[in-house]
Amino acid sequence: MHESCGVFGIYAPGINVAQTTFFALFALQHRGQESAGIAVTDGDGIRVHTCMGLVSQAFTETDISSLQGHIGIGHNRYSTTGSSKPMNAQPIMAESEGLTVALAHNGNIVNAKPLRDELQQRGYQFKTSSDSEVIATLILASPGQSWQKKTEHAMRRLQGAYSLVILTENKLIAVRDPFGVRPLCLGAINGGWCIASESCALDHIGAQFRREIDPGEILAIDSQGVTSLRQESDRKGLCIFEYIYFARPDSIIQDRLLYPVRETMGRILSEEYPVDADFVMGVPDSATAAGIGYAHASGIPYCECLLKNRYVGRTFIEPEQRIRELGVQLKFNPLSRIIAGKRLVVVDDSIVRGTTTPRVVSMLRKAGASEVHLRICAPPIRYPCFFGVDMASKWELIAARKTIPEIREHLGADSLGYLSIDGLIRAVDLPRDIFCLACFTGEYPIPVQIEMDKLALEALPEEDLIGADH
Ligand code: SF4
Repeated sequence: MHESCGVFGIYAPGINVAQTTFFALFALQHRGQESAGIAVTDGDGIRVHTCMGLVSQAFTETDISSLQGHIGIGHNRYSTTGSSKPMNAQPIMAESEGLTVALAHNGNIVNAKPLRDELQQRGYQFKTSSDSEVIATLILASPGQSWQKKTEHAMRRLQGAYSLVILTENKLIAVRDPFGVRPLCLGAINGGWCIASESCALDHIGAQFRREIDPGEILAIDSQGVTSLRQESDRKGLCIFEYIYFARPDSIIQDRLLYPVRETMGRILSEEYPVDADFVMGVPDSATAAGIGYAHASGIPYCECLLKNRYVGRTFIEPEQRIRELGVQLKFNPLSRIIAGKRLVVVDDSIVRGTTTPRVVSMLRKAGASEVHLRICAPPIRYPCFFGVDMASKWELIAARKTIPEIREHLGADSLGYLSIDGLIRAVDLPRDIFCLACFTGEYPIPVQIEMDKLALEALPEEDLIGADH
């Protein structure tokens, strides 16, 4: 499962904004590894550099030094809408009638297609296949004397998830959709301001966390300071997977540091699904904190039974079949001499298709584990996500096709326990109604998504999929 993107913005006269943006994107690399980009302005035109690959591969010293200015935005991309092509790398630039914007987007617009058709009929042209260009063009095409008013108008038409940073020649604008699906926060830096998907990026660049951007808020930063416009919404939908998996454990969302939240998920899992075992391990890195929580609560020692090659990233070298078949072996190496003959509790963050977990279980068995008990921090995922998470279509989700005992058998585990929705909410310790839980419950915050879900259901193959391995 992949998240869609990380965004960053900065308004800070007197500091090297391109270099600061580079290091902020470096801290947000976990949110997208497909492409990276930075756009900067000094008040006279916008310069942009985008490239495929990791942040460290996308920029040279020369690229950074060519991006001079005092306002900048940056983006890490994992494509969900729009294919993985250089032209879809962000920030996206859009121009019309003498106005220019650069925009970086985290999320997914569910009504992008009709909006694009409408804008094309009005004469606007598109260079990419991404929904983010639809947002940028819609803002340009919207009525209003100021960028805030144009953005506010565009927001009335947009349906879906969008945390945005927008660059004009004299302003930085931050926008969060009325559901607040994706996080976005404000920091202070050297008398200036910055915006980031996650607070961990602020820590790395020496900025001070100020607050989160509210759902439905438009924040504009320019030489006059910070101004805010808010649209009220009666329904919130913060993605609960930010707490389970997407965001880094050192980030703070809704005043909750994620590391102890994940530890508590593990503690509650041990209450809901206790088992006798010799060691507890978390599948690195995302389930480490939850594994430690399970170990503390159960009294079973924690052991790093599986070592992860932390330098494995996205590569453009297409592996030959023999290497491809190694699968998880390329990523993990089990400590066979410690595991041999031992009963293991293996804590993982989630199971989506059920293709990777059986390989991990089999690797641990081959390394000598006598029992493997799986404990999962997310409840069963039965419905697809339309909010920018590259999850799977409904028929690919293992929990949509199989019962829990069937999944356990498919995974090859001795036992399987999923954290309950109530247990998950207890771990986060925030009101349930501020979250999107749609991939567990099918209750989407936006009605149009239900229509899309119906379409996904209609696309189910006719034959009985139980027993099939996707
Ligand atoms: S459907 Fe699931 S993954 Fe998508 S936004 Fe909602 S909680 Fe997050």
